[in-house]
Amino acid sequence: MTVDSRHAQTQVLHAGFRVDPTTNAVAVPIYQTACYAFEDTGHASRLFGLEELGNIYSRIQNPTSDVLEQRVAILEGGAAALTVSSGQAATAMAIQNIARAGDNIVSSTDIYGGTWNLFANTFTDMGIEVRFVDPVDPENFRRVTDDRTRAYYAETLPNPKLQVFPIQAVSAIGEEIGVPLIVDNTAAPVICRPFDHGAHIIVYSTTKYIGGHGTSIGGMIVDGGRFDWEGNAGRFPALNQPDPSYHGAIWTQATREMGPVAYIVKARCTLLRDLGCSLSPFNAFQFIQGLETLPLRMREHCRNAEAVAAFLDAHPEVSSVTHPSLQTGDERLRADTHLKGGYGGLVGFELKGGIEAGQRFIDGLNLLLHVANIGDARSLAIHPASTTHSQLSPQEQKRAGVTPGYVRLSVGIEHIDDILADLDHALIAAGSYSAAA
Ligand code: PLP
Repeated sequence: MTVDSRHAQTQVLHAGFRVDPTTNAVAVPIYQTACYAFEDTGHASRLFGLEELGNIYSRIQNPTSDVLEQRVAILEGGAAALTVSSGQAATAMAIQNIARAGDNIVSSTDIYGGTWNLFANTFTDMGIEVRFVDPVDPENFRRVTDDRTRAYYAETLPNPKLQVFPIQAVSAIGEEIGVPLIVDNTAAPVICRPFDHGAHIIVYSTTKYIGGHGTSIGGMIVDGGRFDWEGNAGRFPALNQPDPSYHGAIWTQATREMGPVAYIVKARCTLLRDLGCSLSPFNAFQFIQGLETLPLRMREHCRNAEAVAAFLDAHPEVSSVTHPSLQTGDERLRADTHLKGGYGGLVGFELKGGIEAGQRFIDGLNLLLHVANIGDARSLAIHPASTTHSQLSPQEQKRAGVTPGYVRLSVGIEHIDDILADLDHALIAAGSYSAAA
């Protein structure tokens, strides 16, 4: 594990790459190649035998992706990382790496809809059971854990509720029982470092804040390197028993000389090899560009979002606002314990005029884009009841935290005056409808 004591703002520019060794290029080159020539047969067999780490084929590793992997691993204080083709692939593989048919995981109910679908349908079809629990009481995770539980899963800052997940409490329960906590930190990079609070694995949709410019789909898995896979060998046969797909390798033993990287090496050498959901080198380059300004952008996202939350909170057309900066009691305590430097760029609010006012608000926007995405440098808005959550029943919508007049904003980094002016303008449009209705 590399310990880099520099600040995040410095790491994202310098960690894992200085200059290209063959050309002295300062920007990370896009290694747009499918394969790599072996020096001789001995070199080839050492690479395949894991005696030496190196490039074999770009489905499994690539030098451009490698810089992104090193940089994010260092930023998070982790041991190793793996880039994949989407956030969805990252979540699926993070779990498939340790859970098999007949096993189960325990997940928070407060997760992205796509992840919910993956867990409730596709994983069920594969024979991996997902037990959903309310994260308000961390003990709920312990209550449904059994011998076949392979992981706990949650999002740091899930929307629409924007209630920070109790990483510290749930990872402590996991440590006691021998179950790792996997955290999707997509909505809170830089402001939350999940490993500092006890999480064991992080997943990212790099599509969002890390990319930051809405150009590419991608994902990452990062291993903190602190979970004791060997000490919990009975629970994790995938890492502690001979793997017939890799000439009987026992991953915890085969990687012993490389540091605490068994989990990531196995994911790379088996799942990425077999499923093939690799990140393209061009997209890796895009994410490296995004990463370079991530701390700067997060600061601005957080600052603007806090100002937007305060503005909406005082607006007569708005009945409630959801943002950690406005929370009190236990919710606020969790936010303040886990987040540093801001409360994130997502803001939710409820319009007094219900579903029609919500639609009218969206149609009244001139600057904010009507988009099913988050984490772009541009400000984005969506009305979930008439779009992303429209297939759900009113009860299901309510359970997901979506009410008829609820609007979600992903506040960007434009000048705050322009954002507030556009919101004000659209709120007037929404309000005139509710007044006339
Ligand atoms: N996790 C979160 C919190 C998300 O918001 C999303 C996408 O919206 C994903 C994961 C999935 O990421 P991707 O779209 O890159 O597959």
